[in-house]
Amino acid sequence: MTGVDSVYPFGLAPAPGRQRRIAVIAGDGIGPEVVAQALRVVEPLGVPLDIEHFPWSAEHYLKTKETLPTGALVRLRDEFDAIFFGALGDPRVPDGVVARDVLLGLRFGLDLYINLRPVQLLDERLCPVKGKTRRDVNFWVLRENTEGPYVQMGGSFKRDTPDEVAISEDLNTRRGVERIIRAAYTLAKVPHGSAHPTPRVCMVDKANALPHAHGLWQRTFRVVAAEHREVQSSHLFVDVAAMEFVRTPERFDVVVTSNLFGDILTDLGAAICGGLGVAASGNIHPGRCSLFEPVHGSAPDIAGKGLANPLAAFLTLAMLYDHLGEAHCGDRLRKAVEQVVLAGRVTRDLGGTLSTSECGDAVLAELATATRN
Ligand code: ATP
Repeated sequence: MTGVDSVYPFGLAPAPGRQRRIAVIAGDGIGPEVVAQALRVVEPLGVPLDIEHFPWSAEHYLKTKETLPTGALVRLRDEFDAIFFGALGDPRVPDGVVARDVLLGLRFGLDLYINLRPVQLLDERLCPVKGKTRRDVNFWVLRENTEGPYVQMGGSFKRDTPDEVAISEDLNTRRGVERIIRAAYTLAKVPHGSAHPTPRVCMVDKANALPHAHGLWQRTFRVVAAEHREVQSSHLFVDVAAMEFVRTPERFDVVVTSNLFGDILTDLGAAICGGLGVAASGNIHPGRCSLFEPVHGSAPDIAGKGLANPLAAFLTLAMLYDHLGEAHCGDRLRKAVEQVVLAGRVTRDLGGTLSTSECGDAVLAELATATRN
């Protein structure tokens, strides 16, 4: 959020007198390193959380052959308020079975249909596009999170022969498309510091090449847009959208798109904000236990070296606080991260010299200063 405190429309109902329960899945590679840093702010933020750590990771899989155990989904859904997730992915498990079972298992199993990714520039110096300010790069992407090619429908035939045939289906349902588009309008109507006076939703598809699947997106978008005349609705094909993310990011407030296009576009969104080290995300079902994770993966190339930037994990934890209905904690945390970035107290990926834990120290010090003032 830039310039305004957050107004987050997808959060849990208040639970007065009850401590919120948080499941932590730190995972692989740099996941545990950045999660450990982020969790250091829980105590100073002053809202006690009941935290339970779960071991699901490549290491755990290699020892036990367990990915997401039976009963875990129901337990997480019924007993926890949110999940704080690091990253999964390890070269020792080349087929990615752990990431697939745990992360996709949770996204699908908990029906976390909104993948919410802020594209919000913290410091102009981090933007590789000449002349773009924090006001220009300040929008949200809502990526559909339960459909598309990620459902892994398809198969191959005559595998590893010159005649091999491979098909991956792109699944789109009216229900799935409609609910993510509706969520985009819900988000567009809350203030988020846009320089533009009218809220704007842009739907991104590729209906010219995919007339069936993305024709459904276009038709659904027209119906929902007609119900929200006070919002400026527009549409771009994904190739043009990619260009516009770089050329005119100021034209966006809320972008809504499919699972696959959202995956790709949000890496571009991260790039115009300084890279994966500052990109946060939420996998959300409004009002229910939801999962918050940095956009980056396990980055095996830098794991264990103290090089990982923990700021994406801090910003992710801020989103988790918003979801719990503790937006004041989320805002304090975001402001502390902003100050750390503005002061250049950052890791090497952002041009600084700090290690992962020194960057964590900087965020903690900033929170302490803000509390004193
Ligand atoms: P995965 O397959 O789990 O997504 P990956 O290594 O293919 O892992 P990412 O982890 O997303 O992909 O990262 C790509 C590269 O970006 C990494 O190799 C790393 O160099 C860099 N990177 C990612 N996250 C961070 C971070 N938090 N701090 C510093 N560099 C990072």
